[in-house]
Amino acid sequence: MNGNPVAVVTGASRGIGRAITLSLAAENFNIVAISRSLDSEGMETLAVEVEKAGREFFPIGLDISFTSCHTEVVRNILERYGRIDILVNNAGVAPLQRTDLLELTEESYDRVMNINLKGPVFFTQKIAKEMLWLKSQIENYSPKIIFISSVSAYMTSTKRAEYCISKAGLSMAASIFADKLTPEGILVFEIRPGIIETDMTARVKEKYDKMIEEGVIKQKRWGLPSDVAKAVASIARGDWDFSSGSVFEVSGGLNIKSL
Ligand code: NAP
Repeated sequence: MNGNPVAVVTGASRGIGRAITLSLAAENFNIVAISRSLDSEGMETLAVEVEKAGREFFPIGLDISFTSCHTEVVRNILERYGRIDILVNNAGVAPLQRTDLLELTEESYDRVMNINLKGPVFFTQKIAKEMLWLKSQIENYSPKIIFISSVSAYMTSTKRAEYCISKAGLSMAASIFADKLTPEGILVFEIRPGIIETDMTARVKEKYDKMIEEGVIKQKRWGLPSDVAKAVASIARGDWDFSSGSVFEVSGGLNIKSL
């Protein structure tokens, strides 16, 4: 066990989670990187980069929707480090197929809700309990929890209703955890990315290229994983330590409504 702060990032292998992981390593956090598979090239190269930054890298393979595995995972992290300073709930999926709301299947609904909402809620519950206990054990301990939701928490897309519903639910989860945990000294934040260039959006790239060209994003560009990672790093550094419960939108102005 060592004294460096520890960050747990879900969905660390690729995209936004990878950028978040690297930004937290640069902020001096040892990294617990969670993704479904440990065998991916993404996890191997991430380990190299985190260690190059001088931080420890502890990879864990976990499907976040397998809630029965959460207790063991949290135990493993605490056995290794004895602390968790920041949890970033980033893992998430889009529906396997974009299907109209009126054709939405229960199978797709359950898959997306279990990964994007149920998994993070119960994983956060486990870690929050440990953070509450750690508060009495570690001096100057200021734990934080971040939920990566989406602009889909409030923008509708009739061809991926289950995704929007999951993110709206995750947004409320962030608020409820903030309500419960803030008085206990655990700060909780929600970050809402807009349209970010990752594997998740690769298959709709042409569609979004056109929409961006037509001005749907006022800042007229794709968001990058590093745009989201900068917001996380800022919270992790403590720049927002009087702002628990806040929602940060990282969307280039997708939220600006104009006539
Ligand atoms: P991505 O490139 O598809 O990466 C998804 C990450 O989540 C991967 O590391 C993947 O691990 C992990 N993951 C997927 N299902 C998992 C599961 N069941 N258990 C554990 N890990 C799992 O996605 P992204 O674009 O970076 O998105 C990251 C988060 O941002 C998601 O919550 C997404 O909803 C949100 N978001 C994205 C955008 C966007 O435009 N890209 C916009 C708003 C919000 P493996 O590599 O092991 O599969």
